[in-house]
Amino acid sequence: MKICPQCTSDSHERTSSTGLRVVLCLILIFIVPYGFFICWVPFIFPHKFHCNVCGYHGKEEELLTLDWRESEELKEKHRELHESLQLVKDRWVQDTEHNSYKVVHGKGQYLLIKVQENNIVPYRIVGYHIDSKPNIILIKDNLAENFNVTLSISKNVDKSNIQLNDFGKTILMDEEFDEFLNRSLLAFSQWLTQSNKVAIKVDIEVLLNSERTIIEGKNNFSNKSTLFAGENETKEETTANKKDSNFHI
Ligand SMILES: [Zn+2]
Repeated sequence: MKICPQCTSDSHERTSSTGLRVVLCLILIFIVPYGFFICWVPFIFPHKFHCNVCGYHGKEEELLTLDWRESEELKEKHRELHESLQLVKDRWVQDTEHNSYKVVHGKGQYLLIKVQENNIVPYRIVGYHIDSKPNIILIKDNLAENFNVTLSISKNVDKSNIQLNDFGKTILMDEEFDEFLNRSLLAFSQWLTQSNKVAIKVDIEVLLNSERTIIEGKNNFSNKSTLFAGENETKEETTANKKDSNFHI
């Protein structure tokens, strides 16, 4: 199994064309004088890929190759994350500053949907610490555009222009979206609390996209997997590099 070095997803696709290389090769052979001697050149350029989850563009040689044991370990890590999030899945959580977020599962990913003053923005959940008080949700903001929940691409737009897209309609209820449109950020948080929609208080930590969590492997590119070779080292790196826990995006 080959996985994205940024997010460990196996949902990625080649963006460079083999067919185009063949055409260039044929042109060199049959049209360009003495092109026969350099017809191999189009094939030496590395293929590129695009990750459907985090949106990363890179060379295919950066993809990590997992053997069956590592694949099982990675699945187990995701299974643990999945199980730990069940108590808050499809529920609202709030941080100590009364920011509101909905924890959802969509398109194969756990997402934290943050309600901002003028938009609703998805983040990728990469970890959940339930031993801390309050619990800590770790997130990253590298997400492919198809995870947007509103029709607005910009993260800072006029609220009156906002509409839920088809994906957004599957994860936010009409009532929730209407209240978002009609209330200020603080009033929306109060409405959630009064409606008993808030499951728990949490801390949110935004990780740098270059950091690696336990489900994301090590921060070096290799065509051989190093995902689980130095997990302790990875944890230390993650702690040392951790961004300020204040959540301002
Ligand atoms: Zn990715």
